[in-house]
Amino acid sequence: IVRMQQLNKHFGSLHVLKHIDMQITPGEVVVVIGASGSGKSTLIRCINGLEEFQSGFLEVDSNELRPYGKSSEALQTIRTEVGMVFQQFNLFPHLSVIDNITLAPMKVRGWSRTDAVEAAKRLLERVGIADQADKYPSHLSGGQQQRVALARALAMEPRLMLFDEPTSALDPEMIGEVLDAMRELAKEGMTMVIVTHEMGFAREVADRVVFIHQGEITEEGPPEKLFDTPQHERTQSFLARVL
Ligand code: ATP
Ligand code: MG
Repeated sequence: IVRMQQLNKHFGSLHVLKHIDMQITPGEVVVVIGASGSGKSTLIRCINGLEEFQSGFLEVDSNELRPYGKSSEALQTIRTEVGMVFQQFNLFPHLSVIDNITLAPMKVRGWSRTDAVEAAKRLLERVGIADQADKYPSHLSGGQQQRVALARALAMEPRLMLFDEPTSALDPEMIGEVLDAMRELAKEGMTMVIVTHEMGFAREVADRVVFIHQGEITEEGPPEKLFDTPQHERTQSFLARVL
């Protein structure tokens, strides 16, 4: 569902992503790990067009995203097909939980309010917070807010979900409930790309783990292989620090 070939991204003189090749097949769960500043966020933000890149090839669900300066007609399509959950939940503070979730399906997909509300309630049930529908985000715990953010992304019926450190802003006791919801999603067959420091979770849900160092993919493989017998010295020293 994602095809990335020789992708290069610069921020001014900083070469942030270097010749990245990455393929993601439908149903695959890919976890991206690496040190702070290695380019993990930039990498996944390229996949939904939140960041432009300078050269290389990128296709998402058969829509080609073209390098900086060339018009990408696919951008709107890709944004509706790719859901994203951020570290900061980014909910609309002035909207209730239900309105946060129904907004995009009504506006972008043209659903009726009745249909959108019904779908939203099912999603809230799925992430375990059906009883919070009428509250405002500020009245929810961090873990609940992040599950609303997940439900909101799922409401668009995405073909691919991107997660950028979805539990990093949470108190420890709330991390589990968000990981549980993500685990369920993975079981249901959702294609997911996840940046996380939760290595136990990565080992459990990932089909493949990608280690990125200074903008390059140093090593990738199934979690058992990458965590237990990392081949590269850089992967070894990173894992020694985080495991
Ligand atoms: P972290 O684990 O801290 O989130 P990361 O792996 O997600 O790090 P990125 O946020 O992708 O790293 O950043 C990669 C590099 O690009 C860093 O050196 C960062 O300072 C730089 N960078 C990121 N965003 C911008 C920007 N908008 N303008 C300039 N430089 C940026
Ligand atoms: Mg980041």
